[in-house]
Amino acid sequence: MHYPYVIVGAGIAGITVAERLAQKYDQPILLVEKRNHIGGNIYDCYNYEGILIHQYGPHIFHTNHKHVYDYLSQFTEWNDFQHRVLTYVDGNLLPMPISLETLNQLYHLNLSVEEMAAFIEQRCVKIDSVQTSEDVALSKAGRDIYEKFFKNYTMKQWGCDPSELDPSVISRIPFRFNRDTRYFADRYQGMPKLGYTKMCEAMLQHKNIHVLLQCDFRDIQKDITYDKLIYTGPADEFYDYKFGELLYRSLEFKFETHDKEMYQQAPVVNYPNDYDYTRITEFKQLTWQKHDKTTIVKEFPCFGKEPYYPYPTKEWKDKFALYKELMDQEQNVYFIGRLAEYQYYNMDAIVDKALKLAESL
Ligand code: FAD
Ligand code: UDP
Repeated sequence: MHYPYVIVGAGIAGITVAERLAQKYDQPILLVEKRNHIGGNIYDCYNYEGILIHQYGPHIFHTNHKHVYDYLSQFTEWNDFQHRVLTYVDGNLLPMPISLETLNQLYHLNLSVEEMAAFIEQRCVKIDSVQTSEDVALSKAGRDIYEKFFKNYTMKQWGCDPSELDPSVISRIPFRFNRDTRYFADRYQGMPKLGYTKMCEAMLQHKNIHVLLQCDFRDIQKDITYDKLIYTGPADEFYDYKFGELLYRSLEFKFETHDKEMYQQAPVVNYPNDYDYTRITEFKQLTWQKHDKTTIVKEFPCFGKEPYYPYPTKEWKDKFALYKELMDQEQNVYFIGRLAEYQYYNMDAIVDKALKLAESL
């Protein structure tokens, strides 16, 4: 069987490329997905009780790329959702990321915006060359904040000390010298009104897109030919682990449904210093669904299950570089996505890259 385009993986990367190619060329596109659903990690569905959940952890769309927001807005309307996170520190629920509100509540102060800068300046550690995630937190907020908010959460999340991790990990979290307690400050934020899966379904509504679910590409590879392959699965798997397996951090999700309308005080509550899980998400606070029960999920980081996060240390970046050399030599294979590029990308970055790739094909 021959296809002009074969796409491996029906996550947001594969779906965006499929949608764009279908609009551009009148040619069949085969989209192969090994799970039993589309959407990859942004997949959402209704559970037994009828509550909309995110099967692979909380996903909040946020971007500063207008073209990405406009593109996705063709396929969904949005709830005007602004994400907020509380974190359980010293027996209190405090706003995360660190802002003036966090400091005032933590230290029982009443600092102004101007006073906060001086307060932090006295406490932050001077580091000439920031090399690790520990350096990022110490240099931006000082040791007490680092130890209370970042050190143990990061150790739980990644299974190693922040001093071993790339600076980009903790740099994902802003430090704010103002009263803005939103988790993201991006210009465009929202939750798809009917959910991510409905948005993905709308993107795939084209007669030329053929979706094959529960099909591992490796099982059909020998039976199909293509002009161009777009691959969004793990890079090491594509090359049959020629240089060994890459390390990914995984998560176990434990869902619970409670017989009450509300479970917690924010959509997400982080637990840096208590319990084995990192955070609890309450879905109804993300989706604004009305229901007399509520479903939450606890995230337990681990190794060895589904690959979710590329491992952000030099050792694994170096190993990926070996695969990247092979990838760069491919003539008609294009690698894109969190797994294939071994990069900690948010969904908007993936859509941006997928739009550019489809344009260039
Ligand atoms: P994926 O969604 O992983 O899709 C890849 C697909 O390829 C999968 O469906 C997989 O089954 C399939 N596949 C792999 N190998 C094969 C094969 N051999 N054959 C067939 N199919 C195959 N981003 C945000 O912007 N906001 C958030 O709030 C946010 N929260 C997150 C929370 C968690 C817990 C995680 C893990 C990620 C979060 N992200 C968030 C990131 C977001 O999930 C990713 O950026 C995005 O889903 C990546 O899309 P993708 O298509 O590259 O990969
Ligand atoms: N982090 C932390 N404390 C927190 C929240 C995050 O130390 O309360 C660190 C942790 O290392 C995490 C990183 O910041 O992996 C990025 O956090 P983010 O919320 O972006 O993680 P994601 O939603 O991608 O899992």
